[in-house]
Amino acid sequence: MTQPVVLDGKLLSAKIRSDLTGAVAGFVKAKGVKPGLAVVLVGEHPASQVYVRNKAKQTVEVGMESFEHKLPETTPQADLLALIDKLNADRAVHGILVQLPLPAHIEAGKVINRIHPDKDVDGFSAVNVGRLSIGMDGFVPCTPLGCLKLLHHYVPNGLAGKHAVVLGRSNIVGKPMAALLLQNDCTVTIAHSKTKDLAAITRQADILVAAIGRTKFVTADMVKPGAVVIDVGINRAAGANGKDVLVGDVDYAAVSAVAGAITPVPGGVGPMTIACLLSNTLDAAMRIVP
Ligand code: NDP
Repeated sequence: MTQPVVLDGKLLSAKIRSDLTGAVAGFVKAKGVKPGLAVVLVGEHPASQVYVRNKAKQTVEVGMESFEHKLPETTPQADLLALIDKLNADRAVHGILVQLPLPAHIEAGKVINRIHPDKDVDGFSAVNVGRLSIGMDGFVPCTPLGCLKLLHHYVPNGLAGKHAVVLGRSNIVGKPMAALLLQNDCTVTIAHSKTKDLAAITRQADILVAAIGRTKFVTADMVKPGAVVIDVGINRAAGANGKDVLVGDVDYAAVSAVAGAITPVPGGVGPMTIACLLSNTLDAAMRIVP
């Protein structure tokens, strides 16, 4: 049995961050301004706290400014919108990210669309979604962008003409992933919880992206031999020593026996997401600072 190519996101993201460190230093030297990323966290969501901490740490490591805004769970929506207005006007802030999920009393769509589209480094606002769907320059959501970078780096024959199946249709992963693959000349199928005979569809995929949030959902019999499998899922499961471990949406061990290439979890898509966020922030600063 031949081993699949491991699409190592830890390695590629380290290279991206190292390149970014040089690019940020060049920007600071030329413009006299540090690119700044503001991250807003509302509430005490445990996973979100870890994500925000990692984002801040890596922002500083590449030489950018990190502004953290931690607000209590009970923050009124109006106060959050007022903070976004302040950050939109702040010349030291070039990128704004509001960590999701937000507490139930806050309309996430309203908050995200309040971010100025040119500071919306997560690419979730209607303007940037529109730009992506018609192929205009804008900010592309970081997780799908990270998946695309992994594909470009590790899939030698390009993406044109490949049948890509995206499992999941969320606004933050599935839909923008499908749009990006379409933009890269793949033939794209989007599958979701109402899709009938799912395995028959996933078995047609040259590229299979799983983004559904179900532990080890994609099994070996759902994968075409030689396919490239990208596992976006981050699920927590009980590990052998009673501690939680991160597990993907793909049954890695079983699917590795069939796939031509596969992302591990952890160490695949996750680290690429933050690297793309930092790269989007430098892009934002380059657009904003004259
Ligand atoms: P959502 O819950 O928003 O969307 C899940 C999607 O999967 C929906 O479209 C849903 O279909 C579909 N789905 C659920 N169950 C099934 C099923 N049994 N069969 C087919 N489709 C199904 O999740 P997200 O897109 O936000 O996240 C997906 C996963 O990716 C999660 O594990 C999340 O933690 C992870 N993630 C990882 C990131 C990273 O940096 N690596 C970043 C963001 C997310 P329907 O629309 O019909 O309900």
